[in-house]
Amino acid sequence: MLLLFFSSSVLAQPQSQPSINEISSELAKKGLTGLHAFSLLSELTGKIGNRLSGSPQAAKAVQWGNKAMMNMGFENIRLEPVMVPHWVRGKTERAAIIEGKKNTPLAICALGGSVATPTKGITAEVVEVHSLTEVRDLGNKVKGKIVFYNRPMDPTKLFTFEAYGGAVDQRTEGAVEAAKAGAVAALVRSMSLAIDNVPHTGAMHYVDGVAEIPSAAVSTAGADKLSALLKSGKKVRLRLTLSCKTLPDNESANVMGEIRGSERPNEVVVIGGHLDSWDKGQGAHDDGAGVAQSLEALCLMRELGLRPKRTIRCVLFMNEENGLRGGKAYAEEKRSSGERHIAAIESDAGGFAPLGFGVSADSAVFEKVKNMSGALQEIGADRIRKGGGGSDISPLASAGVPEIGLIPENQRYFDYHHSDKDTIDKVNPRELELGAIAMAILSYEIAQEGL
Ligand SMILES: [Zn+2]
Repeated sequence: MLLLFFSSSVLAQPQSQPSINEISSELAKKGLTGLHAFSLLSELTGKIGNRLSGSPQAAKAVQWGNKAMMNMGFENIRLEPVMVPHWVRGKTERAAIIEGKKNTPLAICALGGSVATPTKGITAEVVEVHSLTEVRDLGNKVKGKIVFYNRPMDPTKLFTFEAYGGAVDQRTEGAVEAAKAGAVAALVRSMSLAIDNVPHTGAMHYVDGVAEIPSAAVSTAGADKLSALLKSGKKVRLRLTLSCKTLPDNESANVMGEIRGSERPNEVVVIGGHLDSWDKGQGAHDDGAGVAQSLEALCLMRELGLRPKRTIRCVLFMNEENGLRGGKAYAEEKRSSGERHIAAIESDAGGFAPLGFGVSADSAVFEKVKNMSGALQEIGADRIRKGGGGSDISPLASAGVPEIGLIPENQRYFDYHHSDKDTIDKVNPRELELGAIAMAILSYEIAQEGL
């Protein structure tokens, strides 16, 4: 049956073993002709839209992923059940600068996991800070106030994920640090390098024994405006109103399917992305792109009739954004499965043109992956750098599995990330497809050669 799909004379001759470069070329031709990753992403974002863990849309996305795998003829398709958090934004989220009788609205959104404010909101004076340490140093001076974290992502970092990593502690830890000092709410500058009026959500968390105070992100333009006002020396008061809440956990699932290995089926290469997203925009780049690419990578191999020596498994993880329950459940189950994981490759950095891969593994494995990059040259995705991977596969990495992350061009990613701007019109079909092709090439080569 699969022979019907052979598209090239090279692959149609079973006697002559095609080289990895020949196979890469065929994968690229097939992918760039069909642009199937974009059709998959259009379906996911168009029919379902965003899909926060625990939501009805996330449940639909699980069914969609399962059906897509069946349509593409994957083997051993199954759902791995996992309980996920269920946080809802609610109808109300707003903030306004209060100056006498004048109210100036600020573009904000609740951070994922935040508690609500009282219905009438919290009104308090604002204190601007640039780090968690600064809040600790201020101590009592922030008591009863709203702490406003305003350290921007560092624009001098060319690799924008580094800039994100350098600023995101304000979002994740900001509320806890502010609450320890007696603040009543935390407001955080959006994690974006673009200056505009769109707020970006993302995960925050509380710790036992520290008061749970409401926490929201303010748009970058709003943050600049608020900061300018504070610099003028005025006392600035802000009213913050949020109606979000956390409901009981919900059952959900990871979705997986594979091509069984012909010689060592119990040795597995995982490729994946995460099926859940934030409840803003369509979750197109984050991480509909990774989902579509992982499905398409396996689909391309199927269409060319490739059966690697080791199993390649596509895993659509659930709950990367606010709990990582899917990634943890997968790694936990694998511990007792008797399978050996050779490598895990994740796409969760946007659907832009691929530059290469980041590899977190010992230096011998790193060198092996580096030596495989020749086959990626033709599509310009042959830069292999140390470090990187993906959140969903990090629990596997903790168990010793080499962790690999697709690295796409990333100057625009954080402009859209976790916001209403993360929609399919920001995704280029050819760039998206090239990422899928890169994942197909590298996973196939690893499945053939081992690591
Ligand atoms: Zn993501």
